[in-house]
Amino acid sequence: MSIWSKYKELVASRLSNGSVPDVKGVDYWRDKLFHVIVVYTLPVCMIAYIPAMILCYYLDQPYIAFYDSLAVVLVVLVTFSKKLSLRWRKLLFVGTMYLLSIALLFYMGVYGPGLLYLLSTVIFVSLIYSSKLAYWCIVVNTTVCLLFALAMHLEVMDSAMVNIYTPEAWLAVASNQVLLSILFAASIQILTSGFSQTLEKESSLKENIKNEVVESERLVKELKIKNEEMEQFTYIASHDLQEPLNTILGITEILKLPSSKKGDRDFEKSLDYISFSVERLKTLIKGLLDYSRIGRLLSVEEVRCEEVIKNVAGDLHSAISESGAKVEIDESIRRMDSVAVFPLDFNQLFQNLISNAIKFRSINVKPVIEVSVKERGDFFEFLVRDNGIGIDKDSLDKIFIIFKRAHSDTSYQGTGIGLAFCKKIVELHGGKIWVESSAGRGSSFYFTISRHLAK
Ligand code: ADP
Repeated sequence: MSIWSKYKELVASRLSNGSVPDVKGVDYWRDKLFHVIVVYTLPVCMIAYIPAMILCYYLDQPYIAFYDSLAVVLVVLVTFSKKLSLRWRKLLFVGTMYLLSIALLFYMGVYGPGLLYLLSTVIFVSLIYSSKLAYWCIVVNTTVCLLFALAMHLEVMDSAMVNIYTPEAWLAVASNQVLLSILFAASIQILTSGFSQTLEKESSLKENIKNEVVESERLVKELKIKNEEMEQFTYIASHDLQEPLNTILGITEILKLPSSKKGDRDFEKSLDYISFSVERLKTLIKGLLDYSRIGRLLSVEEVRCEEVIKNVAGDLHSAISESGAKVEIDESIRRMDSVAVFPLDFNQLFQNLISNAIKFRSINVKPVIEVSVKERGDFFEFLVRDNGIGIDKDSLDKIFIIFKRAHSDTSYQGTGIGLAFCKKIVELHGGKIWVESSAGRGSSFYFTISRHLAK
């Protein structure tokens, strides 16, 4: 690696301890520009330093030599200091410019490059800070020039070179510096504001593209879910709904037999079977309809989870007091900010999980249901844990399929729709649901929801 590359790497490592904004806006580019200025200033200073020293020797200007050397030391500090933040580096850099300009004005007056350095402070401040600050620099520079004119007028400066000019002549020359400063500050302002507008447009364009990609990903996901639903519907239509229909068909065949008579015990029993099957069919069809309606009224709202759970507990009041259940809302839920969800469906999700935790409780054990949450990257991961009868390992996967149950109808009433609802609602929120459990050891239902649900 060449000495130049090593030097650039060293300066880059020193400057990186400052606060560089993440977003690549104008401020980012101002810092980047300062970085480049710092890289080139020291070599340029070193090239100018030796001839300047020789000139000072011949012109007998020890003070200028002193201030030049001091400026070089300060530039070395700006370039290599390990401790300085970017803010202080910038300040020291502009301070060095002012030190040089005032020293050169004092000892060399119009002859020296003092006015050029004053002009350069305005240009550098416009570039590395802001044009607003640059206008303040112009005010400072004008004041400096006026003070020098006053000092000349009062003859308080004994520098030979300065004294050969009258204050009027000095002001005439210095006014050019002020005019040029205004010109530079104004044109750099136009340049940076144009640049900033372009950057803003670019970033909003990027944001739009990102949103569109997210939206199309959401649509693909939705389509996949709909496809799975269609498959489930076909399965349901051919299996679960057929079952009570077959029962009805079988019984009516029996009723048609000449041996069956109205008023018989068997005849009445058969009628009971028919009405039971019809009722069940009605429940299944209603469940199926409700299931297909989930997420139809899509409108995202910000809700506080603690409130949602408290509302659900209120709705389940009679089941809770009858069973002596306790719904414990963890601190993680209480501390949580509001989240964007589909409110009705989100409510239903907690209602199904908590009511199941109460329904599938162990005999003689008061149900305790704990609800907590963790942040996992772009998702919130909720946990609804109970101390109920648990679920057999073999049934863990199937319970999220509509009409599938892990416990018999007679011991625990139900249709097997609740968890299918939960799955669909969670997927609507961009997440997934799963359960960890074993028979007799309680169940832990986990589900995730996206933290950035599109409105
Ligand atoms: P349902 O409650 O109407 O049976 P769900 O879809 O809500 O239907 O649940 C499906 C099955 O999952 C239930 O029948 C039950 O076997 C099992 N299950 C759900 N929640 C729990 C729970 N908290 N504890 C034990 N088993 C559960």
